[in-house]
Amino acid sequence: ANGAKRQMWTEEEFKKSMPERSRYSHKGSHGKGLAIGGSLEMPGSIAMTVSAALRTGAGLVTAATAKSAIPVVASQCMEATYLVLEETDGFISSDQPISFADYDAVVMGMGMGRHHAAQHLIRNALESAACPLIVDADGLYHLKALPALLKKRTAPVVVTPHPGEMAMLLDISVPELLQKPFACAKMFAEEYGVYVVLKGPFTIITSPHGQQTVTQTGNKGLAKGGSGDVLSGVILAMMMQEQSIMEALSNASFVHGQAADMLVANTHSVYDLMASDLLYGIPKVFRTCM
Ligand code: AMP
Ligand code: MG
Repeated sequence: ANGAKRQMWTEEEFKKSMPERSRYSHKGSHGKGLAIGGSLEMPGSIAMTVSAALRTGAGLVTAATAKSAIPVVASQCMEATYLVLEETDGFISSDQPISFADYDAVVMGMGMGRHHAAQHLIRNALESAACPLIVDADGLYHLKALPALLKKRTAPVVVTPHPGEMAMLLDISVPELLQKPFACAKMFAEEYGVYVVLKGPFTIITSPHGQQTVTQTGNKGLAKGGSGDVLSGVILAMMMQEQSIMEALSNASFVHGQAADMLVANTHSVYDLMASDLLYGIPKVFRTCM
């Protein structure tokens, strides 16, 4: 059932849909992205997201993170700029208004923690960011508490759950989800009017209208902390290029998995592959698949 509406997204589709860059382009042409997340306990999360976005071709990326995490993140990402957020015990606790109008896309949630104070930011973004909003990790936990706001929002929202997070969002168990992942993702996407990137050994991308694509790149070397944070950054960058949202999400998932596959085929193994190695796999994908 439904098979006709699902499209396998491979190197061929990637090649066809990636936009060429103009000789006259400048940094503003390739998107100004904002990543909100990280904490003193999880500074690497946002560092990997920001680096992955820059490595995927974002023009400018700003990291908004807890004050005490900024030196750690900044030491890893020299190309980024920073927005200093107030914190409590090393976690973002700010309800300061962020000027979302300055950005072309926003990703939030990674390493943010589940303290109630962080919910302000998610609420704020849902209400006032007119650009696409990508929500991952702890951000999904906060999002679950705001169903009415999520439904009410008209600008695009992308959620990027792994199976545990998808099950949490749907109030079902992981085995129940894995019995019918396509139907579950579609149910959530249609009910809330959002794009869903359901991650796993294969990744299912669903539009608010129930259109679905599937990527099959990636390997078990990705089954480690940080892999999802890299994907979020790749998504942030792709969402700011000249392509549809479905193309951007499918290409992001393709690139992320293909980076892992090329590293494992050449220089790494599924044992030693680390999420930050993907930052050096992304160039291999661009050089050989485009
Ligand atoms: P997260 O759990 O949020 O860190 O995300 C994990 C990322 O790694 C997602 O993009 C998954 O699709 C990918 N991943 C995790 N485990 C596997 C696996 N066994 N095979 C292929 N991809 C995987
Ligand atoms: Mg994750």
